[in-house]
Amino acid sequence: MKFNTKVIHAGIHPDPATGAIMTPIYQTSTYVQEEIGVHKGFEYSRTGNPTRAALESNLAALESGKYGACFGSGLAAIDCVIKMLNPGDEVISTNDLYGGSYRIFKTIFEKYGINFHFVDMVDVQNISNEINDKTKLIWIETPTNPMMNIIDVKSIVEIAKIKRIKVAVDNTFATPYLQRPLELGADIVMHSVTKYLGGHSDVVMGALVTNDESLAEEMYRIQNSSGAVCGPMDSFLVLRGVKTLHLRVQRHCENGEKVAHFLHNNPQVDQVYWPGFKTHPNHEVAKEQMNGFGGMISFTLVGDSLDKAKSIVSKTKLFTLAESLGGVESLIGHPSTMTHASIPREERMKSGVLDSLIRLSVGIEDASDLIEDLENAFKN
Ligand SMILES: *Cc1c(COP(=O)(O)O)cnc(C)c1O
Repeated sequence: MKFNTKVIHAGIHPDPATGAIMTPIYQTSTYVQEEIGVHKGFEYSRTGNPTRAALESNLAALESGKYGACFGSGLAAIDCVIKMLNPGDEVISTNDLYGGSYRIFKTIFEKYGINFHFVDMVDVQNISNEINDKTKLIWIETPTNPMMNIIDVKSIVEIAKIKRIKVAVDNTFATPYLQRPLELGADIVMHSVTKYLGGHSDVVMGALVTNDESLAEEMYRIQNSSGAVCGPMDSFLVLRGVKTLHLRVQRHCENGEKVAHFLHNNPQVDQVYWPGFKTHPNHEVAKEQMNGFGGMISFTLVGDSLDKAKSIVSKTKLFTLAESLGGVESLIGHPSTMTHASIPREERMKSGVLDSLIRLSVGIEDASDLIEDLENAFKN
């Protein structure tokens, strides 16, 4: 089955009881057993629920994986991956990382004796320098937030395989429509389903997908033992959202390209960070490992004026000022005072998060309306 067919059909079966074409919301905690140990495959909804199960097999198929598991949030999915490790194990992670991932690594797992090293993965050599006998996991995020850096998954997998280190990829920004890390050799792919997979800004959810049977066993054991599962109603909403994933992401890419070029040609804009530009670092890698460049764009202003940045984000009307991304509606954000405010200014500056940096999640509205909205916001 091709991707655009999978989004509609993979893992979805008409309801055996009624023939309902859409997977029902099995809003139930438990399941009647005919006699001890005789049941229809479901015993208790933390362990398994038919609505969640349909979504789990759908998302697994989209990532070209065999095993999928859904969680109450993206961070709960990350929590599950790190719980597969043991005290003394080490993880190498990207330095340009989603803030919540950094927080759970540093403030939750370090106290259980798991150690994290953060390196610039745009240069793969930096990873080799950090590997030792205790390294058990490499955690990749690509494109990164908010600088849209592209990390070469295949090259990292090559290094990791030799040392028997597992590779996990946070694929939230790219979506499986644009990038499938398991096909590039990664062991686990993680999603904040909250973003593009849900796609309608109405659900918080996470997911993991793998092809490795022993990793899958651990994943389901932790999902059931720690219990950070998502509910059937949310599973239904995401099943519904995913059906248009290919169409939405196609439009996010088209609109993203138009907005990126508008910004590039605007004399008030300094840098535009969007992996579709030939001048973007690792543009060639992006072309190789992605099927498009997405609708996430960051840019800075000439003179790096904080006041001008604040004025722009307050003036846009279609681009709404909010955290999060990946919904059908366009959002605008100001990393240095919002998502990245907790990082010391000097550190921020080093990674390019200047005072005037603005991040856009370009939605699927009419592109000319979006550009007009930005044009008006740039006026004094
Ligand atoms: C939002 C996000 C997360 C965390 O997911 P939640 O669903 O908010 O818990 C992790 N990684 C990336 C790249 C994200 O954008």
